[in-house]
Amino acid sequence: MSENTHPRDCKHLSMMTNTWAGHFNNTYLQLSQNFYTRQGPVPLKNPRLVTISPATCTLIDLPNTPATKTALTEICSGQTLWPGSQPLAMVYSGHQFGNYNPRLGDGRGLLLGEWVNARQEKWDLYLKGAGPTPYSRFGDGRAVLRSCIREFLASEAMHHLGIPTTRALCVTTSDTPVQRETLEAGSTLLRVAQSHIRFGHFEYFYFSAHNEKAKNRFNSLRELADYTIWQNFTDLTSAEPGTDAFYLGFFTEVIRRTATLIARWQAVGFAHGVMNTDNMSIIGDTFDYGPYGFMDNFDWHHICNHSDNYGRYAFSQQPEIGYWNCGKLAQALTPLFSDTRVIQQALENYPTIYTQTYLRLMLDKIGLIEQHPNDSEWIQELLQLLHDSHCDYTLFFRTLCDYPSDSACAALHQQAGNLTAWLNNYQERLRQNPIDDPTRQQRMKQVNPKFILRNYLAQQAITQAEQGNFQEIDNLMTVLTAPFTEHPGFEHYANEPPSWGKKLEVSCSS
Ligand code: AMP
Ligand code: MG
Repeated sequence: MSENTHPRDCKHLSMMTNTWAGHFNNTYLQLSQNFYTRQGPVPLKNPRLVTISPATCTLIDLPNTPATKTALTEICSGQTLWPGSQPLAMVYSGHQFGNYNPRLGDGRGLLLGEWVNARQEKWDLYLKGAGPTPYSRFGDGRAVLRSCIREFLASEAMHHLGIPTTRALCVTTSDTPVQRETLEAGSTLLRVAQSHIRFGHFEYFYFSAHNEKAKNRFNSLRELADYTIWQNFTDLTSAEPGTDAFYLGFFTEVIRRTATLIARWQAVGFAHGVMNTDNMSIIGDTFDYGPYGFMDNFDWHHICNHSDNYGRYAFSQQPEIGYWNCGKLAQALTPLFSDTRVIQQALENYPTIYTQTYLRLMLDKIGLIEQHPNDSEWIQELLQLLHDSHCDYTLFFRTLCDYPSDSACAALHQQAGNLTAWLNNYQERLRQNPIDDPTRQQRMKQVNPKFILRNYLAQQAITQAEQGNFQEIDNLMTVLTAPFTEHPGFEHYANEPPSWGKKLEVSCSS
């Protein structure tokens, strides 16, 4: 099929997909027409399936069979439409690196529709790399293999680390050339998530109505808020729809989820890289994986995005940027409130929720049940030691699980310098800890991963995949889908990067 042929419904595909439990329920289409443009995918040439996530298949009740793989290859390359799907591109805007961009939207992804599984859960199916849309601006609507693999691995890794995230069903690649710095293969990722609504959706309807004079100019904003609450926040608010209390319940929960999410990123050592408001999920998922990075050596100021010249999205800035982004959302929601002071008060909960969640997560990492008054400072002290000695963040905490064995003590001193005073304090705290050492060690190993998606590991899998060998993705998935477990034969995936792997640069180009 040529690149410009539009996809068609396909009989044999219908027969195959008839065995999939579930159905489409495309509620986004019920919104007013200024929310989206209906748009089909533009097919890719000679598609191949690169990888599929069995765990995500289960989520939407797809059997992981050869027939499923055949059908997904056709669907994800845009050759055929998933029966029942009514694809569309959503409009949104957002603050990019601090500056407002009044019109973004799905420039290279389509919401295929909302799949309702046998448990009546709603999952958006979203095809990234599906071709141009009215929101593509200067882009080609495509995605390349390396960026699809990076999102696939990261979203599944984050999920299995217990961090809220969009999920990935599969990646396909093709013979359609896509121009980036070099020619690359047009590829797609099928993303699965409970919502694709971003902070930027609210900003779009706020700012685009702001200069209008009409009395009901914020109707679309209200429609979006009501829809979002109806779809994803129903059990949160018993307040009368349309009241301040109704919207406040929603906003308070968004603040809670966002602050908690970012605390989880900080505790695991994850840097998102492009925390623009259009990349912030309203339901608090980690969203839109681009030049993200899991930290190897601990560095407060780690900048994973090579295009981020001023470090706006450096690791240490993330909690503050999360707050800033919530402030932009608060501003966009103000027309929904008769008394806007309540929204400011709700926003002010963010720092406390963040700080308390982060402290609890860090105490869990070091195995302490009780919290003492100066614990925040004491943990900062430890992180400063790790920073000063360029210590591997993940390995350090995994080794600490075995403290106070002789081998763990020796390894800790080797990994980080000047630890003696801190460890003496730790020893003292452990004496007061209300659980015994074996219980503490076991609990610590459930929160300190042995395996994370190190940049160089992703790069190795990508390099091989670009040569047609997809095995390394599967190898990585073995450890990333059970990151707290020992994997005999796979221990090398826990190692620090080799020197070439420490210097990799990842930019926004994808
Ligand atoms: P991102 O940097 O992926 O968060 O994307 C920011 C905006 O640029 C969104 O509106 C995307 O849809 C759009 N975009 C990114 N890459 C492309 C592309 N290759 N073609 C068209 N639009 C794109
Ligand atoms: Mg984005």
